[in-house]
Amino acid sequence: MTAGEHFLLLVRRGLRQRCPVCGRGKIFAGIFKTYERCPVCGFAFEREPGYYTGAMAVNLVVSELLIVIIAVPLAASQAVSVTILIILGSTIPILLPLIFYRPTKSLWMSFDHFIHPADTTDEM
Ligand SMILES: [Zn+2]
Repeated sequence: MTAGEHFLLLVRRGLRQRCPVCGRGKIFAGIFKTYERCPVCGFAFEREPGYYTGAMAVNLVVSELLIVIIAVPLAASQAVSVTILIILGSTIPILLPLIFYRPTKSLWMSFDHFIHPADTTDEM
């Protein structure tokens, strides 16, 4: 498998929110709860303390970029009232990080696994 094919495989696993190692085990036990280990292969998902900080940063950046892309043109065009802008401005910054929580976390794990493949002797 080439590096490009391996990368696409990991992206597909990340989008499906599956284990980056085996591709079968689910990452999430609940809406926001992550399994400590893959239920299928036993891979430890949190590879080090603070491992998910990068996922949170990606989530924040993507959410804020989308807010800017949505809010600035709306405000500049004056197509909607100030009341609607305030409602959107107070709800979207809360909703987008919640919506992106699972995809950014699982994609973060996939990208990390591509850059730092699991050493099967000490992480399983
Ligand atoms: Zn697995």
